[in-house]
Amino acid sequence: FQVVLYVSIPDFCHKFLPGYVGGVQEGAVTPAGVVNKYEINGLQAWIITHVLWFANASCFHFFSPTIIFDNWIPLLWCANILGYAVSTFAMIKGYFFPTNAKDCKFTGNFFYDYMMGIEFNPRIGKWFDFKLFFNGRPGIVAWTLINLSFAAKQQELYGEVTNSMILVNVLQGIYVLDFFWNEAWYLKTIDICHDHFGWYLGWGDCVWLPYLYTLQGLYLVYHPVQLCTAHAVGVLMLGLLGYSIFRITNHQKDLFRRTNGNCRIWGKKPEYIECSYVSVDGTKYYSKLMTSGFWGWARHFNYTGDLMGSLAYCLACGFEHILPYFYIIYMTILLTHRCIRDEHRCCSKYGKDWKHYTAAVPYRLLPGIF
Ligand code: NDP
Repeated sequence: FQVVLYVSIPDFCHKFLPGYVGGVQEGAVTPAGVVNKYEINGLQAWIITHVLWFANASCFHFFSPTIIFDNWIPLLWCANILGYAVSTFAMIKGYFFPTNAKDCKFTGNFFYDYMMGIEFNPRIGKWFDFKLFFNGRPGIVAWTLINLSFAAKQQELYGEVTNSMILVNVLQGIYVLDFFWNEAWYLKTIDICHDHFGWYLGWGDCVWLPYLYTLQGLYLVYHPVQLCTAHAVGVLMLGLLGYSIFRITNHQKDLFRRTNGNCRIWGKKPEYIECSYVSVDGTKYYSKLMTSGFWGWARHFNYTGDLMGSLAYCLACGFEHILPYFYIIYMTILLTHRCIRDEHRCCSKYGKDWKHYTAAVPYRLLPGIF
């Protein structure tokens, strides 16, 4: 069954899914000047996993659809073992058999190196890329499965699935599916282009992501909330608006960079600032920073859309408890810190060109405010 799906789904995806990009894709140039190739097949992996999940829940009944909720704590132990094993292996690999020694970063601080990683793109063999696999497989595929398990548990305990649980499943499902649909775009994000692979990514992907990002569903199992229609519609609208801003902003940058500025943004040729930087081997590269579309409104409007979506998941849980709101607090800290970290890096990379860019687009997340 799996083989049939593996053979037919990639073909189907390429032919019938508009905008989907799969197959072998190239990543960005690393600081040492390497261009890695990636096998993009996350959408297939997600579809196969979920088809099997639904087949089991509706026909085969090999295991209960609530299996993840029922084993939540044992799975937390397993996820931790995996997260620490992977981070430790990545550290040892960085010291003794790195994939590309020139792209390794040793700060001299053992704990910092363990946390933030030594190797830039650790790999085993030609295709198994640690960053793409751990960022883009176990945790994110599990995200929607975990939510389904929570919905099944609500059904088992209360005889119904609340509209708040459906909203959380649908909005987070769109976000996850978007990730796999646009997996090729993901190759150009900070995770892949700039972060080294250590505990921050290894443990974060295996433990933090599946356990924290699904907090709303877990809360709703213990505290089922049936929202009034106005509240539910408000949450849905906010979630969809946030997702649209997130997707359009990311798409605009991706299109701009892929076509080297030869595209149209909101019907016009995009405006940009020319910039240059020098890699560690002394080679000079040229790049462009777009100042059109949402990238002219704020320097990270994609984060703003992401935060609106995150707030919608929390609001779906009502106002009885602070716990589900931990997610929006965490995402605000994560993305604000990420924004500052990225800008610090871009400033040292582009120098005075970055200053021209920040003068043209003065706000980070909220035009006129921050
Ligand atoms: P971005 O996709 O915004 O990438 C930032 C990089 O884009 C910069 O380092 C720079 O790279 C380039 N860049 C910056 N400004 C411009 C411009 N004006 N024109 C062209 N290129 C520009 O950041 P992330 O990778 O952090 O985020 C990607 C998405 O993932 C976001 O929507 C974010 O919300 C989401 N995300 C979600 C997380 C979650 O846990 N749910 C976690 C992290 C991110 P260069 O050096 O190439 O110039």
